Amino acid sequence: QPHQPGVERLMNPPAEHIRADYRGSGKLKGRRALVTGGDSGIGRAAALHFAREGADVAILYLEEDEDAHETVRLAKAEGVRALAIRGDVSNSAVCDDAVGQCVETFGGLDILVNNAGVQYVSEDLTDITDEMWQRHMDVNINGYFYMARAALPHLGEKGVIINTSSINAFAGNQSLVAYTTTKAAEMGFTRALALQLAPKGIRVNAVAPGPVWTPLQPASWGPVDPQAVADLGKKTPMGRIGQPSELGPAYVYLAAEDSSYVTGQTVHVNGGMIING
Ligand code: NAD
Repeated sequence: QPHQPGVERLMNPPAEHIRADYRGSGKLKGRRALVTGGDSGIGRAAALHFAREGADVAILYLEEDEDAHETVRLAKAEGVRALAIRGDVSNSAVCDDAVGQCVETFGGLDILVNNAGVQYVSEDLTDITDEMWQRHMDVNINGYFYMARAALPHLGEKGVIINTSSINAFAGNQSLVAYTTTKAAEMGFTRALALQLAPKGIRVNAVAPGPVWTPLQPASWGPVDPQAVADLGKKTPMGRIGQPSELGPAYVYLAAEDSSYVTGQTVHVNGGMIING
């Protein structure tokens, strides 16, 4: 299994973000992308696969640590321009400013990936505080709206918006009620916006990942527990958790002209968890 490294490799050193076998063919050359949450996990994989395809990439991230700068270094190593912007997507002024910085630096914006998200686990509805509920709405729903609204005036014909939703929007998750609510809302947002923007030639699609090894997973909140990782993977028909790198090509597909007749749709990348999603 080439994309199932040993457990020690999963977090330290971190998960695989770009497929070792991924050969770019310049299909995003000249395109400019902004990926929220592009410092880590799935967003980082999307950003680095875009870079390998020749796109300039900006990432928006929340907390100052090495990840954002490392992502920029890795993107630049692909021979493209790269930019890290720190800010909170739950603030609309921050989103306007991030788009502004991207446009100023790259001269425009063609691809927006709404991906920054939060997830708090609670087994019982009564354990969800007002603050936890509100934070899910602010980041996972409002953030997607603010970013799309800020980006829209800059997206020309062939502009693309990709929203990272989740398998939970389709299958539900008893321990993630607030999160699941937001991921389903993102699907509604994707479909409505796709209809509104189709006449302009702007395409809006979603990616719905299954379990992927990123810091978002509860098993990664503490020291790596091999059993916890294995348990997450066992829920999938393929019997293993996905690597962020296995999501990257789905984002490239939706960003590139390969998907020129695809809008309002969902690409499921989940080890077979939903066959008829
Ligand atoms: P991650 O924790 O690796 O990365 C998320 C990043 O989002 C963080 O590094 C942070 O910089 C950024 N972020 C969080 N809140 C932010 C805010 N308010 N403003 C700006 N940036 C913020 O997580 P991930 O697993 O790569 O998650 C990315 C997306 O994938 C999320 O939307 C998540 O819901 C979705 N997803 C993940 C999985 C999974 O199993 N990991 C499964 C389905 C869907």
